[in-house]
Amino acid sequence: MIDTPLFQRVADEIADAGRFLYSRGWVPATSGNFSGRLDDQHYALTASGRHKGELQRKDILVVDRNGDPVDSQLRPSAETLLHTTLYQHFPECGAVLHTHSVNATVLSKLAGDADEIILEDYEVLKAFQGNTTHDTVERIPLFPNTQDMVQLGKDLAQRLEQQPNIHGFLIQGHGLYTWGRDMNETRRHIEAFEFLFECDMEMRRCSR
Ligand SMILES: [Zn+2]
Repeated sequence: MIDTPLFQRVADEIADAGRFLYSRGWVPATSGNFSGRLDDQHYALTASGRHKGELQRKDILVVDRNGDPVDSQLRPSAETLLHTTLYQHFPECGAVLHTHSVNATVLSKLAGDADEIILEDYEVLKAFQGNTTHDTVERIPLFPNTQDMVQLGKDLAQRLEQQPNIHGFLIQGHGLYTWGRDMNETRRHIEAFEFLFECDMEMRRCSR
């Protein structure tokens, strides 16, 4: 295992994020996966099937740009290619978090055949990097769920070309991906998304 001070710092940030996200109920039953950039060629990523509230350095491995493990017997998450696609598309991306919350899962199913969810006129939209006003529209691409991560990675790359200013995407009946320049920004993004999803769900309940 690569065990440099940089890896240790990034792995500890991932484990800390895992404890927080698990405590909020957003990564139940070993679901979700998290990563942090080490350099242009390498990323620290959670191993498959680990309890996300109890992560330790030994549960985190290094993968290369192709998603292949580097100097590790651990099996990377099945969704590794989505992480590497994001790092390669956004040179400034420093961390990626993927959660399976109730609100993200239900909202994505309620969207039916839509290919995006739109959130607008919420003060919390300012939490997303680059947004300076509530008077903005946050478009969240929605992809059908699949186990074919190669194809989903290609679909994601294509969508990122078309919509470079997004902060996250949803996979239907599955969960949310978001990213940021570092782990703190990414955690802020995931909290903002979850707050907005909760608001959107509440609005739907109230407007019945
Ligand atoms: Zn997932």
